[in-house]
Amino acid sequence: MHNQRTNPIEIDKEEFRQIGYRLIDDISNFFDHIHEKPVTYNRSPSEIQKIIGDVPLPENGSEASTLTYKAAELLLNNSLFNGHPKFLGYITSSAAPIGALADLLAASINPNVGAHILSPIATEIEKQTIKWLCDFIGVSSDYGGILVSGGNMANFTAFLAARTAKTSSSVKENGIENSKSKYTVYCSKTTHTWIEKAVILFGLGTKSIRWIATDDSNKINISILESTIKMDIDNNCTPLMVVGTAGDVSTGVVDNLSDIAAISKKYNLWFHVDGAYGAPAAIVPELEKLFKGIEEADSIALDPHKWLYSPLEAGCTLVKNPRYLTDTFSSHPEYYNFSKSEDEVAQNFYEYGLQNSRGFRALKVWLSLQQLGRSGYEKLISEDIQLSKLLYSLADKHHELEAISQNLSITTFRYIPKDSARNVEYLNKLNETLLDVLQAGGEVFLSNAIVNQQYCLRACIVNFRTSAKDIEEIIEIVAREGNMVHSELSKTYKGNTSKI
Ligand SMILES: *Cc1c(COP(=O)(O)O)cnc(C)c1O
Repeated sequence: MHNQRTNPIEIDKEEFRQIGYRLIDDISNFFDHIHEKPVTYNRSPSEIQKIIGDVPLPENGSEASTLTYKAAELLLNNSLFNGHPKFLGYITSSAAPIGALADLLAASINPNVGAHILSPIATEIEKQTIKWLCDFIGVSSDYGGILVSGGNMANFTAFLAARTAKTSSSVKENGIENSKSKYTVYCSKTTHTWIEKAVILFGLGTKSIRWIATDDSNKINISILESTIKMDIDNNCTPLMVVGTAGDVSTGVVDNLSDIAAISKKYNLWFHVDGAYGAPAAIVPELEKLFKGIEEADSIALDPHKWLYSPLEAGCTLVKNPRYLTDTFSSHPEYYNFSKSEDEVAQNFYEYGLQNSRGFRALKVWLSLQQLGRSGYEKLISEDIQLSKLLYSLADKHHELEAISQNLSITTFRYIPKDSARNVEYLNKLNETLLDVLQAGGEVFLSNAIVNQQYCLRACIVNFRTSAKDIEEIIEIVAREGNMVHSELSKTYKGNTSKI
């Protein structure tokens, strides 16, 4: 230690090693025994507050070792574990263990990946990661992009590039409100809520969204999309972009991307693909047809912290013509001294997105892509899909369960009591109560979807720890708990439970 200054923040080498080794022991034990833990301890906010204690900001410091061990103990005993093999809720994956090591390493070096000069190797690693992600999902590596915090930010970043590309150049100076055009954006009713946040934040307003109905297979209805665009043009609106979803959050449906690409081309609109959840499945050769058209997208959002199993947070925006990113985000304040070299232009990531100082998110993604390779990811993603199909078929065969939908790795199903209590309202209430009971129970964690007005249980498998045995056990747990909930609920239910 060459630091002459004594200070309370430095940890000396021996102590750092000891804390680190013990922490690594705790974490590796955690990974090894995660399946024996409950998925969640289901403690209330006030119980948790009691555990951490209502203490003021400490006046004086404490020992790093004690604090670290205590933090590990707190987290290991009070968390919801999305790495548990029976966690199939929302779209939060089990995190690749190499990602934990990557984050430790990244935080130790702490490069600021806003500018090349501050992060020479980290910047190049992020650039390579982005190229590999293009290859992964089957688009040209001429796309440029940036890693961001997640799917929402990835979609926002792309949305802003689209706004730059498709609005008149005066919008940059005068703002949307003062522009002569009424801009409109198109997406199916299944589109994730990010689109609402985007139009509110970026000045178009919620009335700019044209929610296009879906067809029988729950994909965006292409003829309604086209007629709506035509009508808007006739009414002096300026259509700006179409959003296609590659794997919708509720049921995993992939829109007809080629058809959307053709319409976008015909009307000169920006074609954005929200592949936050589903895009990585494009690596599976059998699904090539499903994702056809993604290679024509002007921009794509994907989310390594979902189906690439990166720890939170990692999202990614890809843009076919990356100039639209720099046109949107680049500025050159006088206090930056970043781009000097004449012969070799260094890429500064602050010019590609909303952030200025940026962490080294790319490392965990870059390392996982190498640890698994294309074949490793193809295997895991295909297996997740197979398990989702297994869940569907077991639910379909079970006399008290009804299988509703299965796309990519999302299955929806519900509990239907044997004794013919099939009124719609009761079944919705029953399955909603059942989900609450299951989530609180800690044996399995599912979430919900509404499919054709039916309240369904929804399992999304982006979990390399889930096995066929887990799926079989989940079926048993849901049937058992469903039965219990029904016997309680049917006693008090006021409506008619006896007829369809
Ligand atoms: C998850 C998801 C998002 C939002 O991503 P975050 O990482 O949660 O911000 C957006 N769109 C789709 C289709 C998603 O699945």
